[in-house]
Amino acid sequence: MREKPAQLVSLDAADAPGGFREPLFGLDAESLSKLLISAGEPAFRSKQLAEAMYRQWLREISEITTLPVPLRAKMASEGWQIGRPAIARAFQSVDGTERYLIEFAGSDAKGKTAEAVWMPEGDGGEAGDEDRDQPGQPVASPSPQHLAERVGEHNLRSSLNHETRDWSRATICISSQVGCAVNCQFCLTAKLGLQRNLTAGEIAGQVVAILDRHAVRVGRDRVNLVFMGMGEPFLNYDNFMAAVRLLVREVGLSPRRMTVSTSGIVPGIERFAQEQPDLRPHLAISLNAPNDTIRAEIMPINRKWPINEVIKAVRRVPLRPRERITFEYVLLGGVTDRPEHAREVARLVRRSGLSAKVNLIAWNPGPGIAYTMPSPEAVVAFHKLLVEEGIPAYIRQPRGRDIFAACGQLKRTVEE
Ligand code: SAH
Ligand code: SF4
Repeated sequence: MREKPAQLVSLDAADAPGGFREPLFGLDAESLSKLLISAGEPAFRSKQLAEAMYRQWLREISEITTLPVPLRAKMASEGWQIGRPAIARAFQSVDGTERYLIEFAGSDAKGKTAEAVWMPEGDGGEAGDEDRDQPGQPVASPSPQHLAERVGEHNLRSSLNHETRDWSRATICISSQVGCAVNCQFCLTAKLGLQRNLTAGEIAGQVVAILDRHAVRVGRDRVNLVFMGMGEPFLNYDNFMAAVRLLVREVGLSPRRMTVSTSGIVPGIERFAQEQPDLRPHLAISLNAPNDTIRAEIMPINRKWPINEVIKAVRRVPLRPRERITFEYVLLGGVTDRPEHAREVARLVRRSGLSAKVNLIAWNPGPGIAYTMPSPEAVVAFHKLLVEEGIPAYIRQPRGRDIFAACGQLKRTVEE
């Protein structure tokens, strides 16, 4: 006989019963099972808990009807909470893009919010290459029952997208840090500096909050995921990869529909090269300049890891059949958008020997950033030159510029 009832041990915080505890959302199957076993519960309870959080997207312990009532009561009295990140505000663009201010439940008061974006239809540029030869799968409307289950459940749900589904595929863009330390001169997120790393639960939770809002049917709807929001994922490597594993193993998303973008953090790329190929996203490198001189000016990180070092590290990433590396290239008016730059980029990509494509992004303006947008003619000419040189290249359509949701515009701009 125990003198005291078993307490569910906290893995992250040794808080008193009833006090604040770090969220359960983000714990993987193994951690959940340790937690429940240490509380004297059978291991299968952890599966029920995981199922409730990651597949059913429940947000309160009290809603998990597969768990016995006394266990739910005990967890609540000890201060446990699912603590999934929540959409605190949503801004809607004329093009259907939505930008969200996501609020985290953790105890860290600093950096309580980050941003994520939903882009219905996308522009195809983010789609996984392994899908590129497949025509779009038809997507049926959500069943009335599926919708009815959700009505009234979530007060912040969009009234537009879940009643009549007005998308057939979509891209979700999420943040890996609050702010960013990399200081690219053209990026609005850089202005925040780095406030903190997000945890695996906070990264994966952005995705689940958005899947839930749009009633996405995992495994059936075509939804791409890009780690291209605020922050540098490879400077928060462990949490970023733990989030990927959660999203793949627990939530059921395919890593072939995910792309991570890095400014070229060589140690991160080297670690990425060691990951199991079927458990990692596609890789995109923010090249953004044709040579080290221009790149170091607009991306100070280039002084630490110049282009050749980055490419050397990328060569170590074993690619899946038909997989390509993406080079992202932001066109800055007069700075990186000239024809000679395009020829230099073509040479650089060819010499890299990588199976690669180039995504061209016209620079998105932001307050306090002294660059100019490239002319539409310069973008088209740049693209044409790359294609003539035999380099697969795509022009990315800017999404949600009017609500500061486009690439490089995420800065928690709450005022509209
Ligand atoms: N930190 C990572 C991922 C987030 S940024 C990285 O830099 O790769 C995602 C992409 O947006 C990067 O390719 C970056 O170069 C681009 N970007 C940043 N600011 C931009 C802006 N103002 N306009 C267009 N693209 C921008
Ligand atoms: Fe950070 Fe990426 Fe912005 Fe550079 S472009 S400051 S790495 S978020």
